[in-house]
Amino acid sequence: MKNVVIIGGGITGLATAFYLRQYVHPTVQITLIDAASRLGGKIASAYENGFVVEGGPDSFITQKTGALALCRDLGLSDQLIGSNRAAKTTYVWNREQLHSIPEGMMLMAPTMLVPFLRSRLISWPGKLRMGIEMFLPARRNPSDESLASFVRRRLGKEALEKIAAPLMAGIFAADPEKLSLQSTFPMFLTMEKQHGSLTRGILQKKRAQDSAPVQPGPKPLPPPMFMTLRGGLQQLVDAIVQRLQRETILLNRGVRSVIRDHDRYKIELSDGSLLWADEIVFATPSDVTAKLLWDLNPVLAMKLRAIRYVSTATVSLGFKRGDVHLPLNGSGFLVPHSENRRITACSWSSKKFNHRAPDDCELIRVFVGGARAEALAEQDDAALIDLARQELRAIMGITAVPVLAKAYRWPKANPQYDVGHPARMDEVDQIVAWHHGLHLAGAAYRGAGIPDCIQSGMKAAQAIAKNLATSEVTYKEARVSVSV
Ligand SMILES: Cc1cc2nc3c(=O)[nH]c(=O)nc-3n(C[C@H](O)[C@H](O)[C@H](O)COP(=O)(O)OP(=O)(O)OC[C@H]3O[C@@H](n4cnc5c(N)ncnc54)[C@H](O)[C@@H]3O)c2cc1C
Repeated sequence: MKNVVIIGGGITGLATAFYLRQYVHPTVQITLIDAASRLGGKIASAYENGFVVEGGPDSFITQKTGALALCRDLGLSDQLIGSNRAAKTTYVWNREQLHSIPEGMMLMAPTMLVPFLRSRLISWPGKLRMGIEMFLPARRNPSDESLASFVRRRLGKEALEKIAAPLMAGIFAADPEKLSLQSTFPMFLTMEKQHGSLTRGILQKKRAQDSAPVQPGPKPLPPPMFMTLRGGLQQLVDAIVQRLQRETILLNRGVRSVIRDHDRYKIELSDGSLLWADEIVFATPSDVTAKLLWDLNPVLAMKLRAIRYVSTATVSLGFKRGDVHLPLNGSGFLVPHSENRRITACSWSSKKFNHRAPDDCELIRVFVGGARAEALAEQDDAALIDLARQELRAIMGITAVPVLAKAYRWPKANPQYDVGHPARMDEVDQIVAWHHGLHLAGAAYRGAGIPDCIQSGMKAAQAIAKNLATSEVTYKEARVSVSV
């Protein structure tokens, strides 16, 4: 009988276990181990007085199909909800006012002239600077560069400070001066290379889409950009766990060490017990994986240790509807670092998604910390809630006492894809390939969002199924429902 051990029961480890069970012979023994008392890792939904509060992620992007496909594979299609199309505008706090990001911005490049010209977020010199992007020469040097350097070079300082940097703080909790462009937005590099300019690349893509032959019949609406589940993302975790009936799940037991023992892996748990595995998946944060791999391959461990993590926190506040005056068409706002405030972003959760608050209430969630203000995220719950209330009073004028207040701290939880990350990942992959049966998956490597984590778990499951097939265990052809 073959044994597979998956270390880490966040969404990566759970997805690995779920897909693996579909790919391998029923006799393969799968064990999932987590140091915590619950599965789900950073996915943590709470239910209180009719509110659905997300402590960690609140949704997933649909452009990358991994999460949507997994929800469908789990029979959760009727539980999926999309971000409200009416709340698609995002605002930016600038000079004591909320300004909407102009319609037609593709991340940071304008594609629609009128809304861009009308926007009061960017000054006229800033608009002019962004407008000349299409006439600037392309960079010749093929090496990785920071996102900040790219945006400054192509679109100017104002686009960086008011749009790109706050977006990156929101998505990656990152400092754009350190963030690798190749790891995060490789399509911008490709556009620059192929079209000489971002704006030209985006416009050409739009033109090609507009001139594509129209299929007869009504055009199906694309899925909303972000989706989640009616009962919060915990529903995804619960649905996977329900399917893992034949697997051994060990909670409250951290892995203490992993060594090679002849042709198997010997795993020691925190309670002193031992397990042996033919195939092993590390679905733990890379700093934990680095410690566990030290005896096996110190060079690999050092490469993993070099991936930095930063701390963040979220604070969710529920208010009576009459106490909050939200713009009607928004999903929330970003706060540029240059504004010297103590939050990086705010989601109007109950505007963004339905089923998040009782009918007479609104749910608001603020983000604290990240690469440029880590210390703020390390305060205790009461201080975080106080900070969130003060910031919402200053920015949104909310003075009422919240009917719900919940803080979540995420110490060293967000991996940072620093400049040079793709090259480091190539080296990591090469070293991992020397170790038969060793697999790394999760947010630290090639995509930090939930769909990326699921995709990496699925890839690990496929690789294991192939290894086991070549070692005489029946390999059921992988039912690949995710486009890679
Ligand atoms: C505040 C916040 C908001 C986010 N928002 C979004 C969002 O809206 N959309 C999105 O797509 N992504 C979002 N992300 C990113 C996303 O949540 C994570 O990348 C993803 O959940 C990571 O999953 P994972 O399974 O790889 O890691 P984790 O969830 O960190 O799971 C790792 C598991 O390993 C376990 N473990 C650790 N050490 C050991 C050990 N020694 N032995 C055994 N087990 C161990 C841990 O207990 C944990 O359960 C957000 C992240 C944060 C922090």
